[in-house]
Order: sequence, then structure tokens, then C-alpha cells
Amino acid sequence: MSDDTKTISILGVTGSIGSSTSKVILSAPEQFNVQNVTAHSNVDELAKKAIALRAKRAIISDEQYYNDLKTALSGTNIEVAAGKNSLIEFAEEPVDVTMAAVVGIAGLEPVMAAMKGSSAIAVANKEPLVSAGELVLDTAKKSGVKILPVDSEHNAIFQVLDEKRRNLIKRIILTASGGPFREYTLEQMVDITPQQAVKHPNWSMGAKISVDSATMMNKALEIIEAYYLFDMPANQIDVIIHPQSIIHSMVEYIDGSVLSQMGASDMCTPIAYALGWPNRIKTPGDTLDFQTISKLEFYEPDFERFRSLKLAYACLEKGQWACAAFNAANEVAVAAFLDGRIGFLDILRINEDTLEQTEKTELNDLNSVIEFDKLARDRAERYIHSLI
Ligand code: NDP
Ligand code: MG
Repeated sequence: MSDDTKTISILGVTGSIGSSTSKVILSAPEQFNVQNVTAHSNVDELAKKAIALRAKRAIISDEQYYNDLKTALSGTNIEVAAGKNSLIEFAEEPVDVTMAAVVGIAGLEPVMAAMKGSSAIAVANKEPLVSAGELVLDTAKKSGVKILPVDSEHNAIFQVLDEKRRNLIKRIILTASGGPFREYTLEQMVDITPQQAVKHPNWSMGAKISVDSATMMNKALEIIEAYYLFDMPANQIDVIIHPQSIIHSMVEYIDGSVLSQMGASDMCTPIAYALGWPNRIKTPGDTLDFQTISKLEFYEPDFERFRSLKLAYACLEKGQWACAAFNAANEVAVAAFLDGRIGFLDILRINEDTLEQTEKTELNDLNSVIEFDKLARDRAERYIHSLI
């Protein structure tokens, strides 16, 4: 093992980000020593990844799968654990970097636990940053934990933002592909099915974020994510549609210089940047081929067809509680849409209704966030019942 070997735990190793993270690690195995890998219920994939990555321990958060995981890993020396409490307990173990790649608010408690033992946390899992950005960033600061943004837009900004000269930044510009329904009219959107919504034109991702990209809630969540990650006022965060997804975001400085990061639509690059930070490591993923790029287009987003973007700024004006209510409602709405219980455009309605019906609440610790998240979810579920 070389001197710069990093110990790493991967929360959500079986997902899309977890798989790209595994690919990055397996392409430079001498640079990483894998401690814990986790999943919720996908035993076979968890066992496969734990073996391939030579992990010390595999943890399945749904405890009913404990015996299945034990069987799948019998004959190996990989330790096995199960249950949400185990996930949180082992997330606290000291490592150089934790990759936070669980989907949804379910990742909040593991991320907060990782603050206790990790030197750095690579955060792909945007929902905890939306619901509890103040708490997460504040705890990281107090504990001396480095937060490394993985979401491609935020990773791009992280690469080009001059942290020491923040007063020279005019604004940050998040790029958005516009998703698969960029050119649909509102009438055409009515009949969009879950099968259509999970097919993104440029990126291959998990189901929830694919639907979020289709509604552009993903960009709304990312505006809030940027606000907390970079401590940037809402009026200095802009969005531009860039269908090719080659420029992953930009920072404009007061002298008119615009710095951007470019790359293929492959999460291996931002993941490699986060895992290698402050150095760079080779990516096993796609790289840009300039010969095949015929054009780079940019459009103003349509805030009427994609009201989700307006919602993000409205939430930021109200405060952390509104961002948390929005995230909770959106998770409930996306799950209901994927289950075929509601239509595509209902997702926005559920988010807007929940935001109207929840009241300002101080969210200054983990318990208050968890309780408020539950309250907003109940509210969103009630609205769904009123629709069906
Ligand atoms: P996936 O749905 O592909 O994977 C989610 C992972 O989380 C799986 O390992 C899953 O385990 C685990 N998980 C699900 N529910 C729970 C739970 N209740 N408790 C513990 N673990 C759970 O998601 P993605 O990889 O697409 O996304 C992960 C996060 O990264 C999201 O927040 C997303 O917004 C963000 N992100 C993703 C990008 C992408 O390209 N995919 C790009 C930028 C950000 P199991 O397989 O067992 O269900
Ligand atoms: Mg993104």
C-alpha cells in the first residue's frame, strides 16, 4: 500500500453513484482501502461490490436481509451487519473519505454520523443538503470535516470557485440539460409515464433523480444545494439550459471572466475529483472528444413550463424549513408518480401545496429536521389522497 492510500466508506454502493464510485476505485485499487460498503435491500449487488472492492464490512440497512447477506458473503472474511442503527454506527468509523451516495433524506443520519469519523465527505446525496444544509455545513465546519461536492454542477463550481477571493465572484451559473421533456408543452406533459420520465437523454442515473431531472425539480434542488454548499446568496445563483451537458457549471467574476469545467456526461469525473482531492486521479469513465461536439447551446429556462425553478427561489426566501418541506414533498410525490398513483404534473402541485400548508419552524438540530420532514411527508400524502 502506498503512503497516499485513502481509507474510504461508500454509503449506497449499489446505486448509480455507488457503481461509478466502485469503477473509479477499481481503476486505481492501490490508492484506496475500502472500509464499509452499504445498501438498503439489494443483497446480491452489495455482496458482489463488497467482494470486488475487498471491503472490510458490508452493511444492509433493511435488517430483514441480514441472513441473506451472511449467506452471500460466507466463505469470505468480509464482516456483515444489518439495520439502520448499524449503518449509522459504522458510518461513524474513522476513514479518510466517506462517499455519501444514498438517495433521499434517508442519507441524512448516516452523513451526520460520518461527520464524527471522516476527514472528508464526498456528497452526492443532495437531499440532506437541501433539507438540512445549515446543519450539515455548520457541523462540518465545527468538526473540521471537508465537504467535497460530487453533484456534477457543484463539483464543477468547486473546481473553479476561488474560495479566497469570494468578493470577486459575480455569480454562479448552474447548467441544466433541461431533461427529456425540455421542449414539451404543458399539455404534452400531462400524459408522461414513469417509463418515459426515467430515461434521461444524457445521463444514466437512479430512478428518483431521473424523475427529478424530468420535472426540473433536480435543478431546483441544486439551486438550494448550491446556496448552502457555497454560502452564495440566491440572487447570485442562476440557471442556464445547456442541452449538451458538456459545460457542467460556471463561475462569473466581476471582471467578466467566466470559468467553467467541462467533461463528458459521466459521473466518474466528478467522483474521481472528489476522491482524489486535493490531487487528481485518472478517470476510468468517458472523456470529451472535441471532434464529435458540433455545438454548445445555451437557453434561458422557461419558468412557466418548469415552475419548479421558481419554487427553489421561493423556498430560499422563506428559509431552511421551506427547503425541507419542499424536499420531503418531492420525495413523496416522486415515489407516488413512480408507483403510478399520480400524474407527472401532480408532482409540482404536491410540492406547492405542501409548501403552502406547512409553517415556519426552527430546524436547528437533527431531531427537528427529522420530525419536520415527517410532518411535511404526511401533509404531502394527505394531498395525494385528495387527488385519488
Ligand atoms: P440510486 O437509486 O441508484 O441508489 C441509491 C442507493 O441508496 C442504493 O445503494 C440504495 O440501496 C441506497 N438506499 C436507498 N434507500 C435507502 C435507505 N432508506 N437507507 C439506506 N440506503 C438506501 O441513486 P443514485 O445513485 O442515482 O443517487 C444517489 C444520490 O446521488 C441521490 O441523492 C442523487 O440525487 C445524487 N446524484 C446522483 C447522480 C447520478 O448520476 N445518479 C448525479 C448527481 C447526484 P439499494 O440498492 O439496496 O436500494
Ligand atoms: Mg446534477
